[in-house]
Amino acid sequence: MEPDLRDPDLRVFECARCSEPVWATPAGGAVEVRCGYCGHEDRRELPPLTSQAAEAGSAYRGALSREVGRPRTVDLSISPKGYPARPTKELLREKLAAARARLAALEPDDAERPAVEYEALWAAATLASTFVMAKDPLRARAALESALADQHAPVYRALVLARLARLAAHGGAEDLAERWLAAIPPGLRVPEIAVDVRIARAMLARARGDAPAMLDALGPEDALFGASRPVAMALLVDAHERRGDIRAARAAYRRGSRGAAMRFAGALATFDLAPRTRARTARVGFLALGLVAFILTSLPLLATNHVLAALAVIVVGALGAVVVRSL
Ligand SMILES: [Zn+2]
Repeated sequence: MEPDLRDPDLRVFECARCSEPVWATPAGGAVEVRCGYCGHEDRRELPPLTSQAAEAGSAYRGALSREVGRPRTVDLSISPKGYPARPTKELLREKLAAARARLAALEPDDAERPAVEYEALWAAATLASTFVMAKDPLRARAALESALADQHAPVYRALVLARLARLAAHGGAEDLAERWLAAIPPGLRVPEIAVDVRIARAMLARARGDAPAMLDALGPEDALFGASRPVAMALLVDAHERRGDIRAARAAYRRGSRGAAMRFAGALATFDLAPRTRARTARVGFLALGLVAFILTSLPLLATNHVLAALAVIVVGALGAVVVRSL
């Protein structure tokens, strides 16, 4: 049985033994879960999200003096040492379990701690992204909520909460998305977090069918940078398309394709964004390819004395190019 992921009271985690998703509604500040896969029974204390945020806020202020000159890595496009370019789910699980075990063994002020926390965050966020791409929101949610339980640094909690909000909004769970957003510790002036929060708010505006609010939430395009830029640009294309501004959608599509073309295309497909602009791009690509093939196969004609045939190839080629451009 699948849970209702739009239920704002439901909590979803990974089973501590087998990592499959477990879920329950908390009662009395704790949640009791029984894994449907391995039978493991678990009880987890759950402080309310807002008080966790307040706690995190004070911990941040307390930690500031210690952390001066030692800023935390917040750019999730930087993978920790020892990971291949495309880690498998199995490797991510293994590394995440190892990072959790190390965190449990380290003192709160151990100098190694921020690096291990970042590794746990990165592995969990990457795992969640893998599930989002595979259209498995339940496992993505479990990975992110378990990461939230691991993380105490406000900047890291904020990154996880923004992604939980993005996931909830994409699933049409508006109240839940609002709850995650409200739990983000206030006063963090970290550009990478701002991008992820903008994305979550834009996804929420999209769930409400409000394209102008999507554009407002995304804000100026030059602030959309880093690991989440492809998703932000994909949402920008979608917002323009929804407003009926196809020209702006195409222009944003071209800008989004620069640099991280694969991840941009992946974001469009993963979140089902901008279907018309995507279909047009596929059409144009197909026709352009056909045109190139036509000209290449006609090249021998150009080398002969058949002037008329050569002219015909040039005219068809030019007309084809005009048609492709106008689509
Ligand atoms: Zn289990």
